Amino acid sequence: MSFFISFFLVSFLFSSPCLSTRTTPIFSSKPINPTNYHKIQGTWHEFEKFAGANKGNQINGISELKKYFHRFGYLKRMDNLNFTDLFDDHLEHALIKYQEKLGLSVTGKLDDNTVSQIISPRCGVSDSTPKLFMHAKRNYVFFTGKPRWSRSIPITLTYAFSPENVINSLSMSETKDAFQRAFNHWASVIPVTFLESNDYGFADIKIGFYKGEHGDGEPFDGVLGVLAHAFSPETGRFHLDAAETWSVDFEREESDVAIDLESVATHEIGHLLGLAHTSVQEAVMFPSLKPREMKVNLKMDDIKGIQALYGSNPNFSYQALSESDTSTNNGVNLRKRPLTWSDFILVLVLWLSM
Ligand code: ZN
Ligand code: ZN
Repeated sequence: MSFFISFFLVSFLFSSPCLSTRTTPIFSSKPINPTNYHKIQGTWHEFEKFAGANKGNQINGISELKKYFHRFGYLKRMDNLNFTDLFDDHLEHALIKYQEKLGLSVTGKLDDNTVSQIISPRCGVSDSTPKLFMHAKRNYVFFTGKPRWSRSIPITLTYAFSPENVINSLSMSETKDAFQRAFNHWASVIPVTFLESNDYGFADIKIGFYKGEHGDGEPFDGVLGVLAHAFSPETGRFHLDAAETWSVDFEREESDVAIDLESVATHEIGHLLGLAHTSVQEAVMFPSLKPREMKVNLKMDDIKGIQALYGSNPNFSYQALSESDTSTNNGVNLRKRPLTWSDFILVLVLWLSM
């Protein structure tokens, strides 16, 4: 018995986590219920009522779900006709493609897990990509034509924030710090450096927060739903939905619909560099992100994909990655601290006292 307690203590001492790149607390004082947002009247909330619907039935409003699948690349519009409210073969086929892409059980049905994934907030970039650029064993995906920033390596890209399209809920320095951390995640694995510029007009990457229709045919939709979108290389446009409750610290921002800015920024930068959506749920390039969820550490799938486009940063090592990649602790790099004599004495005292 005492052996097991000591073993537990030693294991604990060897694995004490400490925060690395992020200075804000990871754990919210408020209990996080990842399903809380289902009760919130956000975008796509209405789709919940379709859970359990069967093929062949006429279902009021299911044409909106067809539009959703059309928007994200799973359903073609036949002869420019409007979508009907019939749960038809086309919708079943779209569901199968969606379930395959998002790593769900492939049922072709509107089961609870599928509906839950459909209503999750997500990136506005379509999941549609040519088969040619999908990798059967790897899961990272490129855009059509495999575009990347074409200048010679090592590359420096500048980024700037729109002076007009800003949010007031975060200070500019908080916003900039979150983006700097997000750019650093990618810069640490590929030979690309990101420099902030004050010259918005000439920056390679242009970042802004927008509401609703904002001139690129991809209007934002209010709270939850689409969170942000970015364009493939070498466009450099990066738009975030100003209606979201953007957060850099869940301890301070207690809203059930708070969205972690660094997580979304890291994902969208992947698009700006040339990655499309992956099927690996843990990866940064997976299309959805739940409220109050943090996903900032690049996973092996993200890194293999981006290094296939740009090569490796000479300072990058897989050893450093293995710790964060295998960590299930969102946003935290586990680093083991060296044991001290006081640790051994503590174990010894506990052992003798049993
Ligand atoms: Zn995306
Ligand atoms: Zn836009």
